Amino acid sequence: MSERFFVESPTVGERALLEGDEARHLSRVMRAAVGDEVLLFDGNGAEFLARISAIRKSAIELAIVERRPIDRELPFNMTLAVALPKGERQKWLVEKATELGVTRLVPLITERGVAQPVESALARLRRAVVEASKQCGRNRLMEIGEPAALIVQSPKSKAQSQETVALSPGSCPLAPGSLRLIADPSGKPLGTIERGTGDVIAAVGPEGGFTPGELAAAVECGWQPVSLGKSILRVETAALAIAAWAALR
Ligand code: SAH
Repeated sequence: MSERFFVESPTVGERALLEGDEARHLSRVMRAAVGDEVLLFDGNGAEFLARISAIRKSAIELAIVERRPIDRELPFNMTLAVALPKGERQKWLVEKATELGVTRLVPLITERGVAQPVESALARLRRAVVEASKQCGRNRLMEIGEPAALIVQSPKSKAQSQETVALSPGSCPLAPGSLRLIADPSGKPLGTIERGTGDVIAAVGPEGGFTPGELAAAVECGWQPVSLGKSILRVETAALAIAAWAALR
């Protein structure tokens, strides 16, 4: 696929503006000139063929030639709630989850987990989503949710964010046929789970695993514990194994 450029603001009308890194990359690295045609996407479901009309110091103006509504999304919503690993492994997970079509990645707060990303780190992850989407052709951005806990009545956290509620089966029932899976080595083999066609929410724990209390509470709330084989997988491998299983049915 030829190189694609990301426009921050939704593209409406006949003009688009590339700014920041994207503009610098196009003008300096790609040595683009006025009149050149490039592909743009804005993360809202379409791709655009556009012609460069002006190159300014920090921005590039383009005229939209054609809007192409190219949909590369899965036919259902997939949420991955993951106790994120650190550094490069976190970025790797975001990149691969984007490629596989995950709708939303939620950093999961767990009892044995390390601290989940603060706002600046979330912004870096969102940038990684854009980079992966440029490469894999996805025209809708994978959402990076605010860090959330699995269960509403977590004994440790009194504060209940909206995200926490959204992940809770009690207060947010899924549509019929939807699956809510929690990865745990003692669960039922993933291959035996009836996949269905509905939405999927999957939770993956930290390196230390979920606590027995967390697992019990999740089961009580309707999560199904699933095993991903006999080896103990790294957090990011476990998350991607479930995402691939759900995406490629
Ligand atoms: N020490 C932990 C494993 C942690 S691995 C234990 O023995 O339980 C990190 C997370 O990846 C786990 O919490 C689980 O959600 C997921 N995971 C890793 N390997 C898995 C497997 N074989 N089956 C199911 N989930 C697994």
